[in-house]
Amino acid sequence: MLRTNTCGELRIEDVNKNVTLCGWVQKTRKLGGATFIDLRDRYGITQLIFSDDDQAGAKFGEEGFSREMVLKVTGTVIERLSKNKNLPTGDIEIKLQHVEILNRSLTPPFTIEDETDGGDELRMKYRYLDLRRTVVRKNLELRHRMAIETRNYLDKLDFLEVETPVLIKSTPEGARDFVVPSRMNQNQFYALPQSPQTFKQLLMVSGFDRYYQIVKCFRDEDLRADRQPEFTQIDCEMSFVEQEDILQTFEGLTRHLFKKVKGIDIPTIPRLSYADAMKYYGNDKPDTRFDMKLVDFKALVSGKSFKVFEDAETVLAISASGASEYTRKQLDELTEWVKRPQLAATGLVYARYTADGTLKSSVDKFYNQEELKKWAQACDAKPGDLILILAGGENKTRKAMSELRLEMGNRLGLRDKNKFSCLWVVDFPLLEWNEGDPNLLASLAGRWHAKHHPFTSPKPEDINLLNTDPGGVRANAYDIVINGVEVGGGSIRIHNRDLQAKLFEVLGFSKEEAQKQFGFLMNAFEYGAPPHGGIAFGFDRLCSLFGGAESIRDFIAFPKNNSGRDVMIDAPSEISEEQLKELGIHLSTEKS
Ligand code: ASP
Repeated sequence: MLRTNTCGELRIEDVNKNVTLCGWVQKTRKLGGATFIDLRDRYGITQLIFSDDDQAGAKFGEEGFSREMVLKVTGTVIERLSKNKNLPTGDIEIKLQHVEILNRSLTPPFTIEDETDGGDELRMKYRYLDLRRTVVRKNLELRHRMAIETRNYLDKLDFLEVETPVLIKSTPEGARDFVVPSRMNQNQFYALPQSPQTFKQLLMVSGFDRYYQIVKCFRDEDLRADRQPEFTQIDCEMSFVEQEDILQTFEGLTRHLFKKVKGIDIPTIPRLSYADAMKYYGNDKPDTRFDMKLVDFKALVSGKSFKVFEDAETVLAISASGASEYTRKQLDELTEWVKRPQLAATGLVYARYTADGTLKSSVDKFYNQEELKKWAQACDAKPGDLILILAGGENKTRKAMSELRLEMGNRLGLRDKNKFSCLWVVDFPLLEWNEGDPNLLASLAGRWHAKHHPFTSPKPEDINLLNTDPGGVRANAYDIVINGVEVGGGSIRIHNRDLQAKLFEVLGFSKEEAQKQFGFLMNAFEYGAPPHGGIAFGFDRLCSLFGGAESIRDFIAFPKNNSGRDVMIDAPSEISEEQLKELGIHLSTEKS
């Protein structure tokens, strides 16, 4: 080793030791005839000192030390005169005897400190420098811990980590595939896996019984904020289980991670049906750190000739506790907020429950005190609370109210990132009608689409609805939600060829198409497929949640930007004519 110690480990007990450290120059400063250097490595920062008038000092001084230079230094550990309580090594410094410059550095394009002056694009372009920053490095250390603890937990339960291929067949599972042309099989393409779904099911047919993999997945989706075209899942599958077994096993994993990584004991994870999640939160991944449930006001407000409510299919209310003192200006601003094109509400009705116990609403003309009191009762409002009401079409209003609830949660400080609330959402519908989802191939519009994926098992008691009311069929599918973020999802699978074929039929596949795309799986089901089911956790998202961050990007070493580009290596990029030719790809130069 070039060094005896790291820059993070020396303490007062080490005084008088002769040590050699290696690292990067964080900063230098001159003070009263001495020069101080902060030397940084992955483990911390250690202060180096030399005085200008000792012989060695003069020599070091001549060299000059600039930021990010790589040094190997030897010296004696001494006690600091002025200690730095904020630094674990802050009681000591190294009196230098020898310095070797291992490498020089250009001036970095941004400061390598926790608070940097580098904007997002610049940091991504020089990600290797960004990764020197303690805050970013800590995120990757957390990610490492999460991965280790995941493996520890699953290994103890006899799960085997098995690698599945990355060059596979295009089997649209929910999004578009990334495809890779094959040179040896001209005009044919591999696809990158959206998840190892079919392979893990085949492993169950093989008898592997308990599988997991921390694995890269790829989805060619229109990028929304904070989505990555390649991301990592903790992917799991088990045989001879029912939904309850999976929920227990992975509630256990969640509990293990919270305990080992954050030192938190989480309570039993409550369960909510999809139908109730939509009813009470307007959302299938509710943030349950706070209550503020949606209350159906339609019956309560009808018959009073207030046209907005009379005409509305749905009237929903929430009670924002402690917000009755909201000023007119705040309420106007909130009204503008719900009218934005994203929510497109026509307006916002409110009623303040004042501290003296009277209610004052924006529709006092139509509703008297007694009626307003009933409103308060219905949504459990207390004096000091503010009742907010939206009205309109069912889907739009429920969605808008769900957003308003989250916004009020933010404004009232109810969404503390250090507080965690986990939830299972169960009994999802098996299918949803695809009106024309921009993330799906256009040819899939105007037909039923699997809400989870086409291998999910309907609830046995709902199977007979497949012919008559496909939208009413519930699935043995579940999501795990933490703080309003869907961190994982899975299902009990179909393991019977005929049922799987039936499902492809409902999804609008011809027999031939189904056989061509999924024949390998259906054939496998004819060789003794065990009942099985599984789940996958979004690993990047889970890490960012544990790290208390909004964005997953800082938990990925080399992420893509919001347009799916890696600006550091400049990908995607063109390839040479020669490569194209070998692949048999002819790029049209004509504009379509
Ligand atoms: N393959 C599924 C997904 O990626 C997860 C699962 O059903 O296990 O969402």
